[in-house]
Amino acid sequence: MANYKIAVIDGDGIGPEIVAQAIKVLKKVQTLSGNTFEFNHVLMGGCAIDKCGEPLPQETIDVCLNSDAVLLGAVGGPKWDTLPGHLRPEKGLLGIRSALGLFANIRPAVLYKPLIDACPLRRDIAEKGIDMVVVRELTGGMYFGERGISEDGKTAYDTEKYSEYEVERIAKIGFEMARNRRKNVISIDKANVLESSRLWRRVVERVAKDYPEITFSNMLVDNAAMQLVKNPAQFDVIITSNIFGDILSDESSMVTGSIGMLPSSSLGSKKLGLFEPIHGSAPDIAGKDIANPIATILSMSMMLRSSIDMPEYAKKIEDAVNTILEQGYRTGDIMSEGKTLVGCEKMGDLISEAIK
Ligand code: NAD
Repeated sequence: MANYKIAVIDGDGIGPEIVAQAIKVLKKVQTLSGNTFEFNHVLMGGCAIDKCGEPLPQETIDVCLNSDAVLLGAVGGPKWDTLPGHLRPEKGLLGIRSALGLFANIRPAVLYKPLIDACPLRRDIAEKGIDMVVVRELTGGMYFGERGISEDGKTAYDTEKYSEYEVERIAKIGFEMARNRRKNVISIDKANVLESSRLWRRVVERVAKDYPEITFSNMLVDNAAMQLVKNPAQFDVIITSNIFGDILSDESSMVTGSIGMLPSSSLGSKKLGLFEPIHGSAPDIAGKDIANPIATILSMSMMLRSSIDMPEYAKKIEDAVNTILEQGYRTGDIMSEGKTLVGCEKMGDLISEAIK
């Protein structure tokens, strides 16, 4: 029997509501498996600004570093939108990723069969199936490059910068992932214009040679944006930079129906990872028990595969989600005619009960 320490960042808005459902699911896994989870709640984001005067207190970093995995709800909201950049809740997000050395953001986008009506694409396109994963570089590129603004405020710049080392390590994660999937990798860049993209392409092509069993190709980011809605079935594993990944992963998530369905993990070179839904804190629906907790629950499935060695329970969680969707239960964001509308808490109950 093992004991796993999980740092829990409830965050703001719907964060505490969806995190409670994820914990419910892990407690069911605990009962069935005999392994135990120790949950340590820590502050980050707007609630940390309110209580400690900063978005990412050192104690939060320490508890996370001393854990097997981190569960995060979401941070931010209008209450803190007028604060200066370094005090914004989002600063906590960037800070925790770099403090934990998390350089890879993994975002699977799967269209669940019972949700085919929620897919905004034409039915014949949706019926071909959507099952892809975006592997996004998380600690380099423009979000971390040199930036500035002129004294008169009329000119500003940000810098896209990548080293071979940064590209190589993210590429390897993508190719390793493809080994256990449909063995297809598409690397997305803008090599026809950007020097940094030409380096990116050169390095990924070199890494690809170590994986002869994987079908590999490059795609320009503007074409990728189009292909994701034209023919999403062609994508298995996408490897891309921080900014392109940020944009394309939101696009890939929307083609699967609802942002409330999609989990993510952020990984580094150690086992410790951070697991969170891809959506934000949804202040417009906070406290109403109507948020969809499935993205957060599926993030627990990713946790049980990557940071905690319980892959059989990861599968049980995914099966339970599918069962409940097949039985017709829906939160408001994925509701369609003839289905049964349930709230956030009830959805958490149903899924945890369905884990066998
Ligand atoms: P959002 O993802 O919070 O919400 C976008 C829309 O999707 C809203 O209409 C919301 O109600 C809906 N939605 C989101 N999650 C849902 C769920 N689980 N179930 C049902 N509907 C859901 O994006 P936003 O409105 O642009 O941002 C709100 C706040 O969240 C901002 O402060 C933003 O900075 C922050 N944010 C945080 C993270 C994070 O913590 N990782 C990510 C993105 C945005």
